[in-house]
Amino acid sequence: MTADELGRFDAVIVGAGAGGLCVAIEAAAGGARVLVLDKRPEIGGMLHVANGEVSGAGTRRQAAHGIADTPEEHFADVMRLSHGKADERLAWRSVRAQGETVDWLESLGFDFDPATPGLVHGHEVYSTPRTYWGVELGRSVLAVLRRRLDELVRAGAVTVALGVRVDGAVLEGGRVAGVTGARADGGEVVAYGDAVVLASGGYDANLHLRNRFLPPGCEDALIACLDHATGDGLTLAEELGADVSGDGHFIPVMGLIPDPGRPGFAVDYREAFVEVAPAYRTPHEIWVNRDGERFVAEDTTSPEHRERRLLRQPGLAMHVVWDRAIAEAAEPLIRNGTGDWTRERMLSECESGRWIVAAGSIEELAGRLGVDPGGLAATVRRYNEAVAAGHDPEHGRTVLPAPIAAPPFYGLTSVAASLLSRDGLRVDGDLAVLDRAGAPIPGLYAVGEVLGNNVFAGDNYVGGMSVTPAMTLGRELGRALAARRTGRGAALAGGLTVRRLPE
Ligand SMILES: Cc1cc2nc3c(=O)[nH]c(=O)nc-3n(C[C@H](O)[C@H](O)[C@H](O)COP(=O)(O)OP(=O)(O)OC[C@H]3O[C@@H](n4cnc5c(N)ncnc54)[C@H](O)[C@@H]3O)c2cc1C
Repeated sequence: MTADELGRFDAVIVGAGAGGLCVAIEAAAGGARVLVLDKRPEIGGMLHVANGEVSGAGTRRQAAHGIADTPEEHFADVMRLSHGKADERLAWRSVRAQGETVDWLESLGFDFDPATPGLVHGHEVYSTPRTYWGVELGRSVLAVLRRRLDELVRAGAVTVALGVRVDGAVLEGGRVAGVTGARADGGEVVAYGDAVVLASGGYDANLHLRNRFLPPGCEDALIACLDHATGDGLTLAEELGADVSGDGHFIPVMGLIPDPGRPGFAVDYREAFVEVAPAYRTPHEIWVNRDGERFVAEDTTSPEHRERRLLRQPGLAMHVVWDRAIAEAAEPLIRNGTGDWTRERMLSECESGRWIVAAGSIEELAGRLGVDPGGLAATVRRYNEAVAAGHDPEHGRTVLPAPIAAPPFYGLTSVAASLLSRDGLRVDGDLAVLDRAGAPIPGLYAVGEVLGNNVFAGDNYVGGMSVTPAMTLGRELGRALAARRTGRGAALAGGLTVRRLPE
């Protein structure tokens, strides 16, 4: 079958997530002819599910709220929260311009949540409110990018081809000169470009690839991202000789619930997750491991502390245990992004058996959760003594509202989850992909999660430091590609070869 030729462009961008869209917008605004390819039927990538929290210092919005902040202070926080393990060069390059990205979103009509800029307690907290999110979370970011992209498409500056999975690179000598792809119906396509930008996101939905990068013992981590994140760009670049980091960092997201209908995946957190941050909900329950033992003070205010404690538990699993009186008194344990988990809904969920198990005794509950019954009974007894004494000698929990005393008893299993890729392609200051000898692979660039989040967050989560670098460095790359365009994409010399992704 002959491939359908999509054309010759200054830049061919693989992936229409936050990173790829920003490259496309700035490159096209700067005069480049741009092709965007995405294997999904719609643009947006992870923005469809992400919280879309972006961070930036020195913004107009901070000034309007009387908040003094600078990129230097933001960068100091990034290095503090990442334990000095973020890539200073790339992280600073992004951070210094992230405030401008936030102002740009505002100029595009971004629908800020009125509570922003704010401090976010789901990860370790910045020293200054410099995190922003939209009323529709990640989809608010997508809404403004889509609007701007559509203008450029209408102006003929950008072509978007959806439902095309890029599966190979066209090489002209040692230079990447285009890509091959397959449509959902099996049809083949080819497109040529002066620059090929891998903005194809992470690998977390590809268990084989993810477990290659996770430290040993973390294989049970749930997948908490969309299933497009299969690491195609990383694999393709590796086929071309690219160097890939392998730092072995992993820190999980807590509170996600295994999806009974999709083994290995978490229930979409927009539907349900367990609220573990005491800043957002007073904990009334206990958390135990498979031995029935508590492993952390459930009211710890440090997300990193509880996440690292969970990493040490067998199967990365924790079981939340409570009773009827707690269910009636406490704020709903389960939350989601839209805030529709009321106490009544929570009580009815306790009975439905979807994710929560109920039992007439602690031992029976333990059996149903797969937890050691003797261990759990002893833990509940000691916890109830701690509540009565107002003092938790084992873990130092200070919030001890009520004992777990009377049936029915309830339990819910939550497993540590991975939602973004920690490792990725190594790039130089121009975002050119580096080969294993440290030299740029001509014609090949990368931006966004395909670089791995370690670059911007080290071994931790740092607020907004995935979406915002994807956008900020994506915009810089787009401007640079427009400025450097040579027309080579339109004038290939011939002698082309194709390097395909392995099946
Ligand atoms: C639940 C959740 C919440 C999050 N919240 C935040 C947050 O609040 N703040 C933050 O900073 N980060 C957050 N993140 C992470 C952040 O959303 C992502 O790291 C970021 O959006 C990635 O952008 P990207 O453009 O690099 O990749 P993506 O958005 O993943 O886009 C990649 C695109 O490439 C396409 N693609 C992949 N392979 C191919 C191929 N072979 N051919 C063609 N197309 C291909 C995909 O279909 C996809 O559309 C969150 C992630 C999740 C899962």
